[in-house]
Amino acid sequence: MIIVMVPGAKEADIKRVLARLEQRGYGHHVSAGVERTIIGAIGANEREKQQVAEQLMGLPGVERVVPILKPYKLVSRDHHPEGTVVTIGTARFGAGKVGVIAGPCTIESEKQLREAALAVKNAGAVVLRGGAFKPRSSPYDFQGLREEGVELLGAIGQEVELPTITEVMEPRQIEVVLQHVDALQIGARNMSNFDLLREAGATGRTIMLKRGYAATVEEWLKAAEYVATSGNLNILLCERGIRSFDSITRFTLDLGGMAAAKLETHLPIIVDPSHATGTHKLVSPMALAAVAGGADGLMIEVHPHPDQARCDGPQSLTPKRFASLMDQVRSLVQVMGETM
Ligand code: PEP
Ligand code: MN
Repeated sequence: MIIVMVPGAKEADIKRVLARLEQRGYGHHVSAGVERTIIGAIGANEREKQQVAEQLMGLPGVERVVPILKPYKLVSRDHHPEGTVVTIGTARFGAGKVGVIAGPCTIESEKQLREAALAVKNAGAVVLRGGAFKPRSSPYDFQGLREEGVELLGAIGQEVELPTITEVMEPRQIEVVLQHVDALQIGARNMSNFDLLREAGATGRTIMLKRGYAATVEEWLKAAEYVATSGNLNILLCERGIRSFDSITRFTLDLGGMAAAKLETHLPIIVDPSHATGTHKLVSPMALAAVAGGADGLMIEVHPHPDQARCDGPQSLTPKRFASLMDQVRSLVQVMGETM
């Protein structure tokens, strides 16, 4: 870290900072300029770095403390310069492989899920999604079929030969979900549920971590680092829109943040234009923009009859609309020199 002293800092203040650094096991190098002194510090203990920086900030004569290393390590490109390929069953994402995860927002019945699953499989999706434990904003809204939904997802996934993913909202749901489903989704509302991140990571299964709608890219990557520190780098990141001042779309799809995150991390990034835009009319343009911008995959909500959906009908594509989007995505992926 770099400690910047205030202009004209007293000798005693500088000495106090150096003494504190030595006490905490840091080597240091002092650059005394005409106006101000800057101290470079190299520390031994990664875990204490933040704490030491905060304590130094409180000392007299210190203007600011600037960290040099990123606050995430295992998920960073510094640690692993090549893109990582992450799999869910037979599906591959990253390093030039673009995959599409699709299915209904919520599993409503065997018939609804089967129709959706056949439609997305025939159109070329590589993973079947469906919510069973639903994080609804209102307690009066349909909360999902829960365990029954998880069983249906496993059975229909096998029937249509697609690997599956569903959301878990708390650690107790992980065991039952993993008896039937291949991968775990951690939703936007739980991105900072650190115990859930750790426990999901410890299963070793692929985790798709959605970006919280009020989270910075750095906070999102730090959340992924929690999963990684459980020894699991099978992580897909998912940009799903953030809150902004404009309510013309449900959220604001942050494709700039997605592209910036790709420079920072070796993990594949999936884009979810369904939750980001809230309307089926904007799903295709934003899906194509995401792939053109370097996304490693898409997550699209598809319902056989969006007008009868119990959740997120307005943003769900009909099977026909989804098939036509997939044709466009295939052409674009080819132009980009990638494969599906
Ligand atoms: C979902 O994908 O089903 C979902 C609830 O999304 P998010 O967590 O992004 O709101
Ligand atoms: Mn949804």
